[in-house]
Amino acid sequence: MNSCFSKIKRIAILGSTGSIGRNALRVVRNYPDKFRVVALTTGSDIATLKGQLKEFRPDYACVSEPAAAKKLKSQLGKNSKIFQGEGGLLSLLRQEKIDQVLLAISGSAALRPLLAAIAAGRQIALANKEALVMAGALVMLEAQKKKAQIIPVDSEQSAIWQCLAGQKRSQLRKIYLTASGGPFLKTRGSALKNVSIAKVLNHPRWKMGRKISVDSANLMNKGLEVLEAIFLFGASVEKIKVLIHPQAIIHSMVEFIDGVVLAQLSATDMRIPIQYALTYPERLPELSPGVDFYKLKALNFQPPDFKKFPCLGLAYRAASELGTMPAVMNAANEVCVGAFLNKQLDFSLIPEVIEKVMDRHKSIAHPALNDILAADGWARKEAYAVIQN
Ligand code: NAD
Ligand code: MG
Repeated sequence: MNSCFSKIKRIAILGSTGSIGRNALRVVRNYPDKFRVVALTTGSDIATLKGQLKEFRPDYACVSEPAAAKKLKSQLGKNSKIFQGEGGLLSLLRQEKIDQVLLAISGSAALRPLLAAIAAGRQIALANKEALVMAGALVMLEAQKKKAQIIPVDSEQSAIWQCLAGQKRSQLRKIYLTASGGPFLKTRGSALKNVSIAKVLNHPRWKMGRKISVDSANLMNKGLEVLEAIFLFGASVEKIKVLIHPQAIIHSMVEFIDGVVLAQLSATDMRIPIQYALTYPERLPELSPGVDFYKLKALNFQPPDFKKFPCLGLAYRAASELGTMPAVMNAANEVCVGAFLNKQLDFSLIPEVIEKVMDRHKSIAHPALNDILAADGWARKEAYAVIQN
């Protein structure tokens, strides 16, 4: 097999100031002879980007606001270029010097950049899940056409990807998507009313961005991952089982038709799947200790509580209906998460709002990009209206 390191790999990190982006830079920093950071981008975290530009001296950078772009110009070398806004991000992705794009922008804002990276035929390390949830069928089809390889970064999808390597997809019987259970695994359902933002964001196993932390607290994150797995691995919804595993050591498992189960285990550290997505098919020495089976007392499993966490059921519903329904669910959820973080919506009401919006939607079976974007826009308006009432 060809090494991916026959020459230095030129990496563009989109969303470099976020949790995944910063972890990716921690990986890259360890291997200056293997990677060169050629692009760094942020939405509005200019202070963090400034430090990153100083350290990594990339050829390209991108920020959302024109004023910030002007300010940052001095941080870049003479031959470097700063882009601005979504249009700028898409232009950045067309630059020649990029071998791999790490897509670590959060939310639906990642969809157009993902499609642009695919159109440019780049290898993609995909951390963002919302874009795939919105438009998974279209994204995978385009990737196939353009021969753009998509390597998952999300720890569960990375685990499944590794377990499926060299196996026949037709012989796959089940995917066990594991979930730590989030901060409210042991909380009574009735106690989720009026729960504080701090409690929701306090995930027991992972330190992540705010949006995904809220999603993890009501298992919407796992629901998004059910959809992610359907598209990434071409698996039907019936094959995907969510399994609560509080230690978060097994990152997911696959079962084949002969009853054999393969699992992927590692420390709970996002740098591990990030590094693998950047070095695939190579492995580089670990960044954090492996699993110490002598210290590990037990690995526990239990089924998810669909009653306490209705978002998971809503995601299964979207996964059964497909078409524009996943995009609608995703958009309504993004509005709800934003409203919750702005103290305009109680945490416990998030599933109710999403369900109302989904009930009102007439799904289009095989949507084009325009249909998906229209459904996304419609769902946002509906969700705002439901919240206001
Ligand atoms: P984050 O909020 O910490 O970072 C998001 C990044 O995207 C930031 O750099 C931000 O500036 C940028 N961004 C946000 N909106 C933007 C916009 N409109 N235009 C351009 N840039 C924008 O998020 P995160 O936790 O790093 O997660 C990123 C993605 O990876 C999400 O889709 C999440 O679901 C997925 N993911 C994260 C983790 C994790 O451990 N954090 C694990 C698995 C998957
Ligand atoms: Mg995950």
